[in-house]
Amino acid sequence: MRFYVDYDDCLCETARAFSGLAKRLFGITVPYDKMYFFNLQDSFKLTDEEYSLLMKEGHRPEELSAYEETPGAGRVLNEWIDKGHEICVITGRPFSTYEVSRSWLDEHGLKRVDLFCLNKYGRESFYKKNDFSLEPDDYYRMRFDYAIEDSPLAFRFFDHLPDLKVMIYDRPWNRGCEVPGDNYFRCTDWDDISERIPI
Ligand SMILES: [Mg+2]
Repeated sequence: MRFYVDYDDCLCETARAFSGLAKRLFGITVPYDKMYFFNLQDSFKLTDEEYSLLMKEGHRPEELSAYEETPGAGRVLNEWIDKGHEICVITGRPFSTYEVSRSWLDEHGLKRVDLFCLNKYGRESFYKKNDFSLEPDDYYRMRFDYAIEDSPLAFRFFDHLPDLKVMIYDRPWNRGCEVPGDNYFRCTDWDDISERIPI
């Protein structure tokens, strides 16, 4: 089997880190449980300038390398790899973060997963198009059996794979979203994901 695994808020606690960063930068207190919008500008009620600064600061290597692992992520992925399955981490981070993102995976016992940067969210205001290594055409040639993703904005990248089973990693910003089909399953944590994928 081949797995698509999202990076931020599936493998690591990115939103919690951004919550801390918003407090440090702007004195804004929005706890993780109150982050109802995937777009952090909406969750934190930031101006365009503040949002731009938050994204720039949040993608500094020092910040990215300090993210906490989501409990159980490394253990479950390694169990699947041990059974012969293939893991592709497909992140919406820009390619400029590839090296630090790769290092984080290596340091968290995930040397055996592949990492690709895909422009999932069209953040052209922060990054140039060619900052992303995986172009949509390349991505659409890839095939997956299972996907783990937290962002409703990324679900459109699964439309071409009708047999794909998508595990929605439960987060405050996806609780209100419409589940696109009966091949989507809401999962509370990595133990839940592991139990729902009997391989
Ligand atoms: Mg994510």
